[in-house]
Amino acid sequence: MRVPTAISVEKRLAASPVPVPLSGKDLGAFRRALLRWYDHHRRDLPWRKTHDPYRIWLSEIMLQQTRVAAVLDHYRIFLERFPNVEALAAASEDAVLAAWSGLGYYRRARMLHQCAKELVEQHGGRFPQSAEVLRTLPGVGRYTAAAIASITFDEPIAVVDGNVERVLERLTGCDLKQPQTWQHAQSLLSASRPGDFNQSMMELGATVCLPRDPKCPTCPVRKWCVTQQSKITMERRASSPGGPPPTPSRQIKKEIWCELSQRDGHIRLVQRPRKSSLMPGMWELPPLSQKPHRTPLSAPWRTFRHSVTITNYTVHVRQSAAPTAKGKWIPVANIPHLPITGLTRKILKAASII
Ligand code: SF4
Repeated sequence: MRVPTAISVEKRLAASPVPVPLSGKDLGAFRRALLRWYDHHRRDLPWRKTHDPYRIWLSEIMLQQTRVAAVLDHYRIFLERFPNVEALAAASEDAVLAAWSGLGYYRRARMLHQCAKELVEQHGGRFPQSAEVLRTLPGVGRYTAAAIASITFDEPIAVVDGNVERVLERLTGCDLKQPQTWQHAQSLLSASRPGDFNQSMMELGATVCLPRDPKCPTCPVRKWCVTQQSKITMERRASSPGGPPPTPSRQIKKEIWCELSQRDGHIRLVQRPRKSSLMPGMWELPPLSQKPHRTPLSAPWRTFRHSVTITNYTVHVRQSAAPTAKGKWIPVANIPHLPITGLTRKILKAASII
C-alpha cells in the first residue's frame, strides 16, 4: 500500500471526503493484525479477566474521565464491599459514595446505585443482553451499553470513545462527524471477537496512538493508516476527547481556606448541603469563609493543590485545637464508611489520619 505524503493528506483533509472503509482482504488483515497485537500487548487489567457484566459495567463507569491508575484500587475496594449487583442495590447511598470517595464525578456513583436498584427490581438482578435494552438503564449511554454488550455478551456492536475517535481520524485522515465515527467503527469491527476488537481499538489509542506523540513505528495497523508519522498526526487532534487536559487559558484558579481539628480520636467535619450542585451530602473539613488573619503565633498551616474538572484550587489548611468553624466531631474509625470529598481524603492522608 502506498504511504501518503503530508501534502496528499493535507489535500484530503481540505476536501473533507467521506471516509472509505477498508474492505475485502485489507479489512480482514487489519482485524487480524490489531487482534494479534492486542493478544500480545494488552495491559494486564483486572476487568480484562472477567466476562461478568457487573464487573465490566463497574469498570466502564469508573474509567469515564478517570485514569486507569486511579481506578485500580477503587475498583478492588468497591468490589470487596459490593461484590454483586444485589449487594450494591441493597447498600445506602452514603455507603456507595464512601466507596467511591476519591474518584470524583460523584454523579456516576449515584447513577450506578440507581441502576443497580433498577436491575434488581425490574430485571431480577440480571443484565439485559443487548445494547439496545442496556441503554434504557440509568446512567448507561451508547458507549457503555455497547461496551457491556460486546465484551460480555459478544454482541457485534462497536464502541467509540475519545481514543477510538482519534485512531479513526488518523487512520482515515478525515475530520469525522459523530455519526461517521460510529459507522466507521462498526464497519471495521470483527464480528467473531467484537469485545476484544473494541478493547483493542481503545488500547491502541491509550498506549500507541497517543494524542501528542503517536508511536507509529510500533503501531500494528500503520500499513493502513493515512496520516502515519505526518505532521498532521501530531497536531490536529490535540484537543480531542481523550486527549490532553484543557489548555491553561481554560483553567480557573481558586484559593480556599479550611480548618483541621482533632480531639480524642475524632475529627471535625461538616456535611455539604444535600441540595448542593457540587458533591451534595458529602463530608469535608469545615471551610473558613474568609482568609484568616495570620500572626507569628497562629496555628500551623499546610497548603495543598487540588483540581476539580477545570478548576485548580490552592487549599490552605489551618490545624487548630480550638475549632472556629461549624462542624461535627466524627470518630476517625467511621471515616472509611463516610462519603468524604477527594480533597478531604487527600488532606487526611497527608496528616496520617487515615
Ligand atoms: S500509524 Fe500512527 S497515527 Fe496511524 S493509527 Fe498507528 S499510531 Fe496512530
